[in-house]
Amino acid sequence: MKRILIAEDEPRISSFVEKGLKANGFTTATAADGGTALLMAATGEFDLLILDLGLPIKDGFEVLHDLRRKGSDMPVIILTARDGVPEKIRGLEGGADDYMTKPFSFDELLARVRVRLRADRAPEKTMLTAGDVRLDLRTRTIKVGEKVFELSAREFALAETFFRHPGQVLSREQLLSQVWGYDYDPGSNIVDVYVGYLRKKVGSDRIKTVRGMGYKLTGD
Ligand code: CA
Repeated sequence: MKRILIAEDEPRISSFVEKGLKANGFTTATAADGGTALLMAATGEFDLLILDLGLPIKDGFEVLHDLRRKGSDMPVIILTARDGVPEKIRGLEGGADDYMTKPFSFDELLARVRVRLRADRAPEKTMLTAGDVRLDLRTRTIKVGEKVFELSAREFALAETFFRHPGQVLSREQLLSQVWGYDYDPGSNIVDVYVGYLRKKVGSDRIKTVRGMGYKLTGD
């Protein structure tokens, strides 16, 4: 039976979610503040966290950040009244798997919970490998041998682009549009700067410069 932790400081909402999940065969526990939520989530006893952002003691962003920093890869669905795009981006880039806004339909939440638990059973999709370097899509870290490096949001996006095309030459323009979007100045050297950051982590020989063409991640 899957165990779900609900971090929510509004009793009305947490009991509504809890009742619904129990009725659908899940085991649940609730935490009414961010500090408690983090402690409970870090026990590793839960399969998924439903996380409110506006929480006392530690807000949801802090809980998520601390949890991912500890290396936890538990699926997290943010459930919040904050519907701004910058907050959604911050939540997803911070390592949340999904983001739902209140008011919400329970059936939709349930569907999303089920999707995340299913995704959790397919570990091959959460790890991309090139030689002895592994990119963890869930914790957004990169592993070189036994060493683990944290990545900034842009470094992660760049690394993911390389890891999805190992051995393939990617032009600066391709990388720029993929990672920074089309509105970025094509004359900018930002791609080279970030390739430099990544090389410091994975080792400079792993991302090769292909003169006049771009870069490629060596696949072996
Ligand atoms: Ca709240």
